Amino acid sequence: MATFKRIAVFGSSGSIGCNALEVIRRYPARFKAQALCVNSQIDILRAQMGALRPALVCVTDRSAARRLRSAPGKKAGSVKVLSGYEGMEALCADRSIDHVLIAISGAAALSVLLKAIEHGKEVSLANKEALVMAGPIIMAAARRHKVIIRPIDSEQSAIWQCLNGAQDTQVKAVYLTASGGPFRGWTKKQLSHITLAQALKHPRWKMGRKITVDSATLMNKGLEILEAIALFNLRPEQVRVVVHPQSVIHSMVEFVDGAIMAQLSVPDMRIPIQYALSYPERLRGVCPPVDFVDLRALSFETPDSERFPSLLLAYEAARRGGTLPCVLNAANERAVEAFLHEEIGFSAIAELVARVMRKHRTVDQPSLNDILEADSWARAAAEKLLSGTVKPSRR
Ligand code: MG
Repeated sequence: MATFKRIAVFGSSGSIGCNALEVIRRYPARFKAQALCVNSQIDILRAQMGALRPALVCVTDRSAARRLRSAPGKKAGSVKVLSGYEGMEALCADRSIDHVLIAISGAAALSVLLKAIEHGKEVSLANKEALVMAGPIIMAAARRHKVIIRPIDSEQSAIWQCLNGAQDTQVKAVYLTASGGPFRGWTKKQLSHITLAQALKHPRWKMGRKITVDSATLMNKGLEILEAIALFNLRPEQVRVVVHPQSVIHSMVEFVDGAIMAQLSVPDMRIPIQYALSYPERLRGVCPPVDFVDLRALSFETPDSERFPSLLLAYEAARRGGTLPCVLNAANERAVEAFLHEEIGFSAIAELVARVMRKHRTVDQPSLNDILEADSWARAAAEKLLSGTVKPSRR
């Protein structure tokens, strides 16, 4: 039986959020954008309110929320405008919401995700930082509240689709595919001269700035290693990364009998978003099929972890566990921000993350509090390195 879902979209002004709204609008008999949440982009939100008529909106930034309340826009009607973290939590608790789609970037998604799970909502998750920070805590809460976390990240969606309910014991390994980013094959010397503009140009996917830089350093794949371990209850050695520049195979699962399942499609985020919303059903899509003859070949390479050390850092964090993955994530967020502000060079991003990780005293089996503490510790430690005399090289 087809069910009607009222959806809260967190991060509706971002790239995933806009794609999600497109999917929602295509199926008015199935989905409604009941609530929209942005950080501060009220101009985009105003346009979305006019087009989608949500019952509730939340603007996390309070001054932006005040501006929206004073000028909600022509067709906004009697929309309730919430603000701050309480506003986000109130959306997760709201009884008119069936499904919470989380497409906000960074660590901020963690509390939203836990609240949504606590309230037994259906959850679609595009954010990977929350699972990297607190994977075991999130998965335990999801089991407790019988919530399936529906991944939107294309690789995790691919693994989820390939697994199709298979038992953990049937899985031998998963292969995360990576496009290799814009600097695949570049020499170390070339990498040291990368500009911000070059790093923000991704060959396959159009995405937000943070994730685009993460794709260029391969830290995005590093975070996905940690994300997959949490989501699918895998051991670090079961997760393998293979560079696949065409981005047609979105990831693969190898079963114990040697059979390998792969999920293929054109690289378009509307496919994993729609599947997360419609699961376990499949609705008709709008993306063109893969033209295999036009493609001619799919190619694969080993990732170069010497030039892109982020992958090694992620495996190190995965093996050590505890608070170390959280520290990797926090240090990386700060390092990417510094790169985006042109305070440090491209190669210094992974360098900074490695140095913060080395300084950290890992807490095993951390509580949520230990995790939040490790998160702020790592940001402070990164800050210190950025401002101190031991500043990472600008290039
Ligand atoms: Mg991905």
